[in-house]
Amino acid sequence: MRGLMQDWPLLVHKIIDHAALYHGDREVVTRSIEGPIVRTTYRQIAARARRLAGALDARGFALGDRIATLAWNSWRHLECWYGIAGIGAIYHTLNPRLHPEQIAWIAGHAQDRALFFDISFTSLVEKIAPSLPHVELFVALTDRAHLPAANIPNLVAYEDLLAEGDGTFAWKQFDENTACGLCYTSGTTGNPKGGLDTHRSNMLRAMMIAQVDAMNISCRDSILAVVPMFHANSWALGFAAPMIGAKLVMPGAKLDGASICELIESEKTTISAGVPTVWFGMLQHLVESGKQVRHMKRIVIGGAAAPRSMIQKIETELGIEVAHSWGMTEMSPVGTIGTLTAKLTELPYPEQLDYKAKQGRALFGVEMKVTDDQNRELPRDGITFGRLKVRGPAIASSYFRDEGLASFDDDGWFDTGDVATLDAEGYMSIVDRSKDVIKSGGEWISSVQIENLAVGHPSVAEAAVIGIAHPKWNERPLLVVALKPGHDCCAEDMLGFLSGKIAKWWMPDAVAFVDEIPHTATGKIQKTELRARFADFRLPN
Ligand code: ADP
Repeated sequence: MRGLMQDWPLLVHKIIDHAALYHGDREVVTRSIEGPIVRTTYRQIAARARRLAGALDARGFALGDRIATLAWNSWRHLECWYGIAGIGAIYHTLNPRLHPEQIAWIAGHAQDRALFFDISFTSLVEKIAPSLPHVELFVALTDRAHLPAANIPNLVAYEDLLAEGDGTFAWKQFDENTACGLCYTSGTTGNPKGGLDTHRSNMLRAMMIAQVDAMNISCRDSILAVVPMFHANSWALGFAAPMIGAKLVMPGAKLDGASICELIESEKTTISAGVPTVWFGMLQHLVESGKQVRHMKRIVIGGAAAPRSMIQKIETELGIEVAHSWGMTEMSPVGTIGTLTAKLTELPYPEQLDYKAKQGRALFGVEMKVTDDQNRELPRDGITFGRLKVRGPAIASSYFRDEGLASFDDDGWFDTGDVATLDAEGYMSIVDRSKDVIKSGGEWISSVQIENLAVGHPSVAEAAVIGIAHPKWNERPLLVVALKPGHDCCAEDMLGFLSGKIAKWWMPDAVAFVDEIPHTATGKIQKTELRARFADFRLPN
């Protein structure tokens, strides 16, 4: 027997309508690309998104079309998401930090029909436009006064496009499983692959991350959305903030410590989320400037491992609670968040920190298990590690155009490519990415765990561990270190610091000092480049 409840499809434009009606005056504040701070409200954003939807519809864009954005976090970018999704088209976030050729490749793979871009990317768009014959319309996210003189065909200013639309446009209606957003993984191995969210998955993920034991967002919060909309869907903040009615602060292109701290103070932000690199920048700025941040209550750190030392510093020195989070593009994207259970809050702080340094507990709607290579489930003992697999209603069932099929099994489990442990309290701990783990004598060494310890050394700015070929052990770890400016440290000192903190056979065989650790476009350590750079490195006997 079917139940007698209404069929109310989970379509994301319902979020912005709700925000306009119940949180209409709540602000969205942006450090704009043009320069000034721009203040707008959810009511205005909803109305302008409707105009955009009307303009796109009138120009013949429709259900299933891919429409790309190449933009920082801003109110206009948010309007694009809702306006594009509101006609059943798919917003496709391109990562501007990628190489231009890779951006063009991704846009070609997606067959984007239009491209919206920040004016700071004008020369980049000029460069790739000739290789994008499928793009019929280029939209500069600005007004006519700031429209750049550029050699880009079919170029219009966003504000002019909006003027073509009608504020009374009625959102299109379709099934909640309709594709909503497209985002490609960084492609650290092979070509990038497209994760294709649905309206339903975005709505569900937003509900999940807003919960008290997740990001704990309320309509009284002011959220600094550091995590870019072009990277893994801004961790669903673009949906969760208007759903709840939280103020949203968009940092635009400026993600350095000083700019971030300025917004935290001026907009009295209470919650933020971003990768560790940003918080390193914030901490460094606060030390150098002697300034304080007074309103922040919670920072969610993810995308790469948050070192224990960083969590401790932010919590004890700044009085800001840290929640460690893990996820990936294919999970739209948040999978775990590490708030403490009632039982663990009774532990002494150093023991609480042991749990906070893990990647957290699964959100409702994220099933997780670790298996061996034969797909046998491994014990949840916090020690045994294996392949981390996930399934749930906001997790990819396949990649766009059926690529990477090997990652999905017949029971619906997705192999994350991460190696992890699960413990009895439900906390997951990332040991490594399967391709980065160091295979020494048939056993695995976690590069991530050594890196996290190494950055605890007072002179170390950043550290990376890679495997170097070894005739007897197959691979042995090399620790690559970038020192803080003005600091000095030698290999013996570094190894002495690690000694006793990890198993003896995990100790790096050598330490190499570099000026800078290379990063991927999503802010992760670029191990492929480091491996290439140290391909000829000879370990001492
Ligand atoms: P990409 O796969 O394109 O680099 P994602 O941002 O989706 O982009 O990356 C997901 C990966 O990032 C995860 O599979 C995991 O390896 C890593 N990651 C994310 N959060 C954490 C975390 N808190 N600790 C360690 N690794 C993390």
